[in-house]
Amino acid sequence: MSAFLIEPSTYLALQLLCALVLAAMVGWASRRADAPGLRRWLAGLLLAALGCVLLAQGSRLGAWSLALVFSVFTGSALCFLLALTEFSGRKPSRLWLLPAPLLLAAMLALLLHEPVTLALVGSLAFALSLLGIATLAPLLRGLPSPGLFVAPSALGAVVVAAWGLRSHAALGRGELPPADALSTACYAVLFVLLLTTTFAFLELHRQQATGRIRQLADLDGLTGLLNRRCFLERAERAHRYAARTGARYAVAMLDIDWFKRINDRFGHAAGDEVLVIIGQQLRAAFGADTLLARYGGEEFCVLLPDAGIPDAIACAEDARHRIECLRLKVLEMQRFTISAGVATCTDASGESLAAVIARADEALYEAKRHGRNRVNTAPPPHESASVLA
Ligand code: GH3
Ligand code: MG
Ligand code: MG
Repeated sequence: MSAFLIEPSTYLALQLLCALVLAAMVGWASRRADAPGLRRWLAGLLLAALGCVLLAQGSRLGAWSLALVFSVFTGSALCFLLALTEFSGRKPSRLWLLPAPLLLAAMLALLLHEPVTLALVGSLAFALSLLGIATLAPLLRGLPSPGLFVAPSALGAVVVAAWGLRSHAALGRGELPPADALSTACYAVLFVLLLTTTFAFLELHRQQATGRIRQLADLDGLTGLLNRRCFLERAERAHRYAARTGARYAVAMLDIDWFKRINDRFGHAAGDEVLVIIGQQLRAAFGADTLLARYGGEEFCVLLPDAGIPDAIACAEDARHRIECLRLKVLEMQRFTISAGVATCTDASGESLAAVIARADEALYEAKRHGRNRVNTAPPPHESASVLA
């Protein structure tokens, strides 16, 4: 078994190497402008590396190095905590870093009398800072998967405390403790802790960046609704599902009436605000389960799963009514309206999605021709085909 025991010097060399490699990776990733917390994590890694270098000096630096070593390790853990805080969307105060220099000062005072006590207090302070990560990470609401940091930090706190209780006498004499099962466990846990938490933190950033790219690709930048490409992709999926299961769905096309006049009279910025507000009203009228898109400039398209014409008409009428009742300051309290066309697809028709949307669009233009501010229903496919012919 002794072959598996880790000598302190071997651990310190490995941990130093690991911290430096991770620091290089995190430093490279932190070049991105929107990488919250990565610079603080980098500071934590560099402090961990520094702590390893100092501890490796052992007796050569004398007991003075102990005060610095434990302050540096404690500071490193606090930096990790600050990084997690920043990632969760809070602005961490630099005051949080105060415990590390205070610890250094307190330990320096202790050092004059008792290096052994100093080693004990220092290792327990480091254990406490790891416990701080384990207990505070779940409280950071904006931090996804806090468990990734809780378990390794809690385990780290336990083994560091146990190691400090066992090793403070040797450390106080300026010696590194001999390799035994407890110190081996402690080194292994700290090594894995640094690796796993750093990779977990980098992974959170990767997921955040992917989420942002997906948002940019799928959503309309002005209204936050689905864009046309994403809508058609998802609607096609809903259409295939309906064809497979015999379910039905309805489509509504909606268009702002006389929108060009709104732009001409009140300005493009006012027009943009109207588009945003209409997006919100449509979301409220059609509900969260529908696919809702800004289909074109001032045109919106909705797919209502498992809905027939009466459901679609009810939602479109609700939207029309809500918008008709709005009085916006940017439009000097003037009324504005929308028109809508609805169509439904049942499995029996064997229609394509494009054909259903085209029928809803035709119904919308029928509504425009009949005076606007109204909801019009598309005739069933065979009838509309004959009408179009
Ligand atoms: P209708 O009742 O027949 O639909 O008339 P309309 O004026 O609404 O339709 P038209 O197609 O003539 O004009 C649409 C206008 O929508 C023209 C365009 O400048 C405006 N528009 C398109 N996209 C945007 C946008 O993102 N912001 C603003 N402010 N206006 C936009
Ligand atoms: Mg229009
Ligand atoms: Mg239009």
